[in-house]
Amino acid sequence: MLLPLKKSINQKVIYTPQGCESIQLWIKREDLLHPDISGNKYRKLRYNVERAAMLGFDTLLTFGGAYSNHIAAAAAAGKELGFKTIGVIRGDELEYLDNVWTENPTLAFAKSQGMQFKFVSRTDYRLKDTEAFIEQLKSEFGSFYLVPQGGTNEWAVKGCEEILSDEDDVFDFITCGIGTGGTISGIINSAKSHQKVLGFPALKDDFLGEEILKYVNKTENWELIKDYHFGGFAKINEELVRFINDFKNQTGVALDPIYTGKMLFGIVDLIQKNYFPKEARILAIHTGGLQGILGMNYRLSKQKLNQLI
Ligand SMILES: *Cc1c(COP(=O)(O)O)cnc(C)c1O
Repeated sequence: MLLPLKKSINQKVIYTPQGCESIQLWIKREDLLHPDISGNKYRKLRYNVERAAMLGFDTLLTFGGAYSNHIAAAAAAGKELGFKTIGVIRGDELEYLDNVWTENPTLAFAKSQGMQFKFVSRTDYRLKDTEAFIEQLKSEFGSFYLVPQGGTNEWAVKGCEEILSDEDDVFDFITCGIGTGGTISGIINSAKSHQKVLGFPALKDDFLGEEILKYVNKTENWELIKDYHFGGFAKINEELVRFINDFKNQTGVALDPIYTGKMLFGIVDLIQKNYFPKEARILAIHTGGLQGILGMNYRLSKQKLNQLI
């Protein structure tokens, strides 16, 4: 196995609103799986890199935004496992920014891991799944194993089925943040029938449910909670920053501003609103993504806003 099967620990946290102390909140620390191939990205890459090696590829090519956790993880996996990596990045303006490597910690990190970049316009980026676009990439870079944006495909879902294990059967609710829907699909597939999986989309997207249904064959034991995206992908406000900082101070667990921060804000709000039964046991999956804090702080400081600690 290039990336061995790992099991992460569950940590109980005390961050319960007054009057709701009988509800138990636990966090599955997938963020501790690997220092650089963070959280769910480790799970999503595991079978993909194995397939790439089996099929004889020496190069991984993938897509992402300029602050993408997936880009950072794919670059680190390539370095550790001996693949060349190419990142096709949304935003061609980045190519002309002299200071992109100092201003963008994600790209700087990926570069330090040996990733080669191709910056494309937002219009071209939308064509990234077309055959013509991929053919063009092949003529430019030679043959490669293609990992989709966010890493999501059937192999990624298979990897995410390994997040839960039998000892997690004691929980009534499993929660996770959602980008493309690959991670929650794996969790839904491996959750037991007495468990309910709650997904917190990090973006406004009406088609996420359909995306998830491509990978799962259950409709009853999961639900999307769409009230906590804070205006859209990578959008945050002072209330969220305050929550993430307070959560870290009280529990010692750092949350990322794009996914896990919004999910936990949502869980705590729902506890306050009596969404959960009195004795509920909740397992929140910490999908990692902490590399995103640096880049977000850079943007917050430019707007003279409070930073994440
Ligand atoms: C990528 C990512 C997600 C979203 O995973 P999907 O499989 O795309 O839904 C959630 N949390 C973190 C920290 C991530 O980096």
